[in-house]
Amino acid sequence: MQFHLNGFHVGDPTIEPAVTGAFRADMPDTVDVLIAGSGPAGLVLAAQLSQFPSIKARIVERRSGPLLMGQADGVACRTVEMFNAFGLSDRMLREAYWVNETAFWRPDATDRGAIKRTGRVQDTESGLSEFPHVIVNQARVQEYLLDVMHRSAQRLEPDYDLEVVDVQRDDVGDYPVRVTLRRTNASQLDELVTVRAKYVVGCDGARSRVRTSIGQTLNGDAANHAWGVMDALAVTDFPDIRLKVAIQSASEGNLLIIPREGGYLVRFYVDLGEVTPENRDTIKQTKVDRIIQTAQRILHPYSLDVKEVAWFSVYEVGQRLTDRFDDAIRMDGTKQVPRVFIAGDACHTHSAKAGQGMNVSMQDGFNLGWKLGAVLQGLSDVDLLRTYSDERQPVAQELIDFDKEWSAMMAAPPKDPLRPEAGGIDPEELQAYFVRAGRYTAGVATRYRPGALTGESTYQSLASGFTIGTRFHSSTVVRVADAKPMQLGHAARADGRWRLYAFSDASGEALNALCENWATSPDSILKLITPPGADWDHVVDLRAVLQKPHRDVRVGDLHSLLLPRKGRYGLIDYEKVFTSDAASDIFVERGVSREKGALVVVRPDQYVAHVLPLDAHAELSDFLLRIFRIHTPALVA
Ligand code: FAD
Repeated sequence: MQFHLNGFHVGDPTIEPAVTGAFRADMPDTVDVLIAGSGPAGLVLAAQLSQFPSIKARIVERRSGPLLMGQADGVACRTVEMFNAFGLSDRMLREAYWVNETAFWRPDATDRGAIKRTGRVQDTESGLSEFPHVIVNQARVQEYLLDVMHRSAQRLEPDYDLEVVDVQRDDVGDYPVRVTLRRTNASQLDELVTVRAKYVVGCDGARSRVRTSIGQTLNGDAANHAWGVMDALAVTDFPDIRLKVAIQSASEGNLLIIPREGGYLVRFYVDLGEVTPENRDTIKQTKVDRIIQTAQRILHPYSLDVKEVAWFSVYEVGQRLTDRFDDAIRMDGTKQVPRVFIAGDACHTHSAKAGQGMNVSMQDGFNLGWKLGAVLQGLSDVDLLRTYSDERQPVAQELIDFDKEWSAMMAAPPKDPLRPEAGGIDPEELQAYFVRAGRYTAGVATRYRPGALTGESTYQSLASGFTIGTRFHSSTVVRVADAKPMQLGHAARADGRWRLYAFSDASGEALNALCENWATSPDSILKLITPPGADWDHVVDLRAVLQKPHRDVRVGDLHSLLLPRKGRYGLIDYEKVFTSDAASDIFVERGVSREKGALVVVRPDQYVAHVLPLDAHAELSDFLLRIFRIHTPALVA
């Protein structure tokens, strides 16, 4: 990380100096963004908005304090990549359980009352991400995000004991949305507070009030599926208790075991089946003893002695989705600028089996956060906000389709070889599907279609491993100035900036011409979109990847655009230039043309927006002008 840019600071460099007007306990009359709900979606959004010192955001939560235990726990590789951009991945990796392998158990062919291991596979395909799939409790995940907010210049904190009861858009003045809040603490119970906002985001879970206020409904299967979920400390002789395990028993049902962080805790998911109006009450009243007994029967002949249950719930959810994630289309069908958004469980719900709920919800927050940041800082027009629903709704639909297939497989009984006519699923088939589905569960299957923020694949062959529309798949490089081996993707922080990774051509001439054009041309796109007085990398951060070994590069020979002078002292930023790592050449790893090089355009939420030739100045300008406003010529140092 970089710090001391504008003068030496003592103390923890991860704590930003507070801005004037940073968080105050009393709710102001007006805010830029009001977020309803401090679950994973709301907190990622709040953490992202807290990185923009000029934006006034508040996050209200009906609970009286932070979540302490329970709910989701699977953190996909893609989510860890996002956490890395918030500076949180080290902490998460240190604390979490790493899902390295998954085991599959089925009825023993010779004694169907007992179970037997039938397979053990690597959990995540090699090379899918530089990060593992990990397990850490949702409460801790949320705590990490609260910490980011707390350390930000805004010192943002949730306003607990405040519930959104009504959202009305009247389009009056600069703050066109009126939100009515109700206090939920005993001393002020039912007291109403009104706040006006430029934008409101409903991250208020599956029973979202904000969703209702914009006339959206969750559509999908009428039936919910229920699981008994238990976080337990137990003594067992089951040998795979520290692996993720899917068990299909012959007649006692299916069990999913998820080892938890800390070495001892284990989560058990017992399938309680479909919920119907007839059985809903009975299922809801399932006692923890029944979950324990079912788990014990499924694990036979192994023993399970539960010593303590830390958390237990009957988690009932259906796979449902709203048509839109914003209010851009009025209830009468006419269009308007979106002002109210919904994210996370408020607009899509998933089964717990594929571990999507928390992960997809956080990605919603990440997608919307930088867009609100760009619009509220005046860098982009409000139309940018339309892309949130356009992008995220189809992604949620795709994940729900996958989730349905996956959950049905996990819930099916195992095929009995002696009675094939009875149906069921072959455990080998289940295992093969698990491996195929790995990209979904790792969170890297998301691919945005060509549109306002995603280019066409005309030049994709110049960098075939950076697939346009998918997340930037990092690889190792060496930073030239200090010879630091690192992941190129880790140059990106969650700071709302775009990254342009310019992979050099063989001679370096095209890269040099690109830098020269941007530094000197009167219609340099960088000058046009950078606000006057800002550092030249304030909006778009150019990074170069050279082909020479790092010791053969003379720092003094680099183009001045790659050694920008920044901040109040005009200090030189030496962290813009990398070379390929001899042990793992990024040009080979990601299929980048050695002859022509490539320009890889990456969004603030780490998705590849475009791949272009280094000399495609006009195409790059056209593309960026779809996203950014033109400012008067910036002061380029
Ligand atoms: P949520 O995490 O639901 O957060 C919504 C937040 O909004 C909550 O803090 C809520 O208190 C607050 N809120 C609600 N209404 C208002 C309002 N009107 N005003 C202000 N605040 C409001 N997933 C799994 O994978 N495995 C599990 O075992 C599992 N168990 C779960 C158990 C429960 C009880 C719940 C609720 C969810 C569970 N989930 C589980 C789902 C997973 O937690 C969600 O998919 C994920 O948390 C979605 O994040 P979110 O931010 O969209 O919503």
